This record gives sequence, structure tokens and C-alpha cells, in this order.
Amino acid sequence: MTTPEKSRSVAIVGAGPVGALMAVYLANRGWNVHVYETRPDMRLPENKAKIQNRSINLALSTRGLTALKGTGLALDELIMKSGLPMRGRMLHIGDEGHLVSQDYGVHGECINSVDRAKLNEDLITAAEELNNVKVSFNLTLKRADLDKGTLALENKETKEIISAHADLIIGCDGAYSSVRNSLMRYVRLDFGQEYIPHGYCELSIPAKVGADGKPEFAMDPEHLHIWPRHKFMMIALPNPDKSFTVTLFMPFANFEMIHNEGDLLNFFEQYFADAIKLMGKDLLIKEYFKNPKGSLVMVRANPYHYKDRCIILGDAAHSMVPFYGQGMNCGFEDVRILDSLLSEFNVKSTKVGESDNSLALALEAYTDRRAKDLKAICELALYNYTEMRHGVTSPVYLMRKKVESWLHLLVPSKVIPLYTMVSFSNRPYSEAYARHHKQGFWLSVAGAAVGLGTAAGLLVAGWKQRRQLKDAAGLLKAAFLTAAQSAQKLVQ
Ligand code: FAD
Repeated sequence: MTTPEKSRSVAIVGAGPVGALMAVYLANRGWNVHVYETRPDMRLPENKAKIQNRSINLALSTRGLTALKGTGLALDELIMKSGLPMRGRMLHIGDEGHLVSQDYGVHGECINSVDRAKLNEDLITAAEELNNVKVSFNLTLKRADLDKGTLALENKETKEIISAHADLIIGCDGAYSSVRNSLMRYVRLDFGQEYIPHGYCELSIPAKVGADGKPEFAMDPEHLHIWPRHKFMMIALPNPDKSFTVTLFMPFANFEMIHNEGDLLNFFEQYFADAIKLMGKDLLIKEYFKNPKGSLVMVRANPYHYKDRCIILGDAAHSMVPFYGQGMNCGFEDVRILDSLLSEFNVKSTKVGESDNSLALALEAYTDRRAKDLKAICELALYNYTEMRHGVTSPVYLMRKKVESWLHLLVPSKVIPLYTMVSFSNRPYSEAYARHHKQGFWLSVAGAAVGLGTAAGLLVAGWKQRRQLKDAAGLLKAAFLTAAQSAQKLVQ
């Protein structure tokens, strides 16, 4: 007698971007999917004001787009209909906001500014349109019994506890994950949570009125704008309504020094004078004092799964600081990689008897293969904060970037800029990280050689011209610093 086949059911906790995308992937495989979300349905107009999103827009890049495309439902195209491509950084340097453009890639590659709420809503709608997906709102997971596959969920309005059952529980419930809390009781889960001393506050630059009376962007919309101020920074991403969402990142200690309008305007006049003109003083004051000051948390966990019963994905498994614009992209990649492992281990949508341990093997392989990549991107995200607020203004950094771009054009198989590997490829993060280190020494040497050569040339050519001498001195300094760094690396 053959054992009757049992359809696999999955409970996804959290209908954020990662949970909604996971629902689509598993529904495509024929699983019965139930998504439980603590917030009310954000698509209903009456709920819009109730929902406080972490950021208004986000940067979507290759890894995220690849995972969206992988649904086979053209979700990448749907999301990109309102996405705005940004081909580089626009640095606002010094008091007067002198503009310097730095392309992200040598072939015109772009990251894309997308509306976080719209992206999330579109993904929930795409999931709900599949007949084997159900999404329930206003239900908060309180506890999960992973061996029994039961979930205790609280109705936020009535406070009633309802119970649900699923063969697999997937935690996509963000940095403060309840599923992860349950998982800790079943596996020896290494876990770490760290707040960086910096927080953020969202502001905006409204559209300006164009000559024809229509709204226009107040700055170049094809760039992610950065005001690097060494210990802190401000960034701005364009929106389809021609406004920019601005995020001020700085230590909480600095936020705490701003008590009133006078303090705020003094601070902005000192560091972001050009931005005040674009924002308008009244709007700046209103938004700065009204908007929350968000904290930035890093979460690391390992393993990510328990038998064939539970797995955590997205921020629940690896919340990172937002400076590489990879948090959601990486979460989407989690989904794509888990899906590919379900195929690799031949996990069927039905479970055939107790001897079918294909799902347990697939989840185990996920933890084994994904851990080093998640560790790498969390480190890179933190590193990129220093680069964005400080590194981008250093002559050594700029010279290295130039040399790196030239070498990438000349020998693309040998030298690939780190940003290109992280944002414009699906290469595993750990490989990108390792390759960057390997390339680093030779880049420093090449940078120093180019710097010394250029400086020497300038010295010879511009002996009588003070301005060029100044340039040459700057380049020489940069070249020597680069050479010194190279030597240090060699010694290490
Ligand atoms: P979340 O978005 O946190 O979603 C979790 C969902 O679970 C939520 O809907 C929540 O309500 C629900 N939930 C929580 N607890 C429960 C519970 N107990 N029961 C039921 N439901 C629950 N990433 C990028 O890729 N690019 C960027 O440019 C970028 N910019 C960022 C800027 C800022 C300022 C910040 C803070 C983050 C940024 N990120 C960016 C990171 C990105 O926001 C996250 O990585 C992404 O939102 C993670 O998605 P998620 O679905 O895993 O988690």
C-alpha cells in the first residue's frame, strides 16, 4: 500500500517585501501558502496614515531585480515602471555644495530608486492573485511550536489568540523577528544584535515649478545625491513626483544637540547650506521636528533553519545597516537561493511519507551555503558608511577609483570594482569581498604609480604656475599615501 501524499503547507510570518516575494515563489511551486502580517492592509486608503515605513524609497539593484524576474510574472518590469534609474553619486562638497559626479559603473549601470510602500503593495497583490496564497492582516505571531508546526497569533483589534498550523514556518518578520525568537529554543542559534551610534531622520526636497508651470526636479534625478561630511552625511533619492527623499544620517549625540529651530538652521547653514535652499527653511523645520529619529540595527544569526520545520529570511536573519542599499536586495536573493535549493534537492509540493527528508536537506544546505555571503554583505554595508560619508572625498580614494575603472575597462576579467560586483551582479557576496581584497593591493600599487607619474608630469609642465604646483602637490601627497598604504598591506 502506498502512503497518501500530503500537500505541503507553509506559514510565512511577515508580508514585508521578502515575505510577499517568498509567497509568490512557493505558490509557483504549488505549495499552500498562508501569510500572516501584523500590520493592517497597507493598500487600503484608511490604513495608509497608520503605517510608519522605515524609509520612503529604496535602491533596487541587480540582485533584487533578478529575484523579482525569477517569479516568471514580470514583477521586475512591474516595479521598474515607476523606478527611477540613478547612474552615479552626486557629491555635494564643501559649504557651497560644489557638485562632483561619480558614475557607479563604467558601462552606465544604474541602481533604481523605488517607492518602498508601492513595491510592497505590488508584491502583496501579486501574491494574493495566485489562488494558493492567502494573506491575513492584523495578526501578530506570538509563539510558534516548531515540532508541532503550530502558530499562536494575536488579532490586534480583538486581542483574541488564534492558532494555525503549517508544515513549514518561514520567518520574514524583520529585524525583531518573533519566528527567530522561537527558533532559538530549538537550535543552538548564534545570535548578535548591535546598534550603531548613528541614527537617521527623513526630510525632503520638494519639486520646483518649471517654466511651463509643471513640477520639475530641483536636482539631477539620475544621481543618488550625497553630502559627505566625514562624521555624518545626508543623502537624497529621487521620487516619481519629482521630489527627493532626503535622509540625514548622524550620531544620535548630534541629533540630541539640536533643540530648537535656531540650532537646526545653524547646523544646516554650517554643513548643508545648498540643501537649505532646495528644501526651504519652513519645510526643513517642520519635517525635522515631526519625523522620528530612526535607529540602525545589525542582526546576525546562524543557523537559519530547524530541520524541515522552520527557516528565517531577510532582515529576520541578517539585518544590516543601509549603506550599501542591499538589505532588501539581499533578502530577495535569499528567496531566490532558497527556491533554487528546493529544486536542487527535488523538494516536491507534496510530502511522500516520513522518509522524504528532501526539505530538511534543502534548508540545511541553505544555512551552509548562505552564511558566508550574509556575513560578507553585513560587513560591506558597514564599511560603505565610512566610504560614503568620508572616503568619497579623499584624493587617495578618488585616484584608486579612477585607476580601478580604467583597469576594469582594460582587463574586465581581472579587475572588477567592488561596487559593480555587489550592486550589478549576482556573484556571491563572499566571493566579491574576497576578490576585492585580492585586487586591492595591485590597485594601490597601480594607483600610486599613476599618481606619482601624473604628479611628476605636472611638476615638470607647470613649474612656473602656482596653481598646477598646488595640484601636483595634492596628487603627490595622494600618491605617497596610496603607496604607503600599499606597502603596509604588503607587510601585513
Ligand atoms: P521588513 O521590511 O522589516 O518586513 C517585515 C514584516 O513583518 C513587516 O511587514 C512587519 O510588520 C511584519 N512583522 C513583524 N513582526 C511580526 C509578527 N510578530 N507577526 C506578523 N508580522 C510581523 N534595502 C535595500 O535593498 N535598498 C535600500 O536602498 C535600502 N534602504 C534602506 C534605508 C533605511 C533607512 C533602512 C532602515 C533600511 C533600508 N534598506 C534598504 C533595508 C530594507 O529596508 C530591509 O532590508 C527590508 O525591508 C527587509 O525586508 P523584510 O521583508 O525582511 O523585513
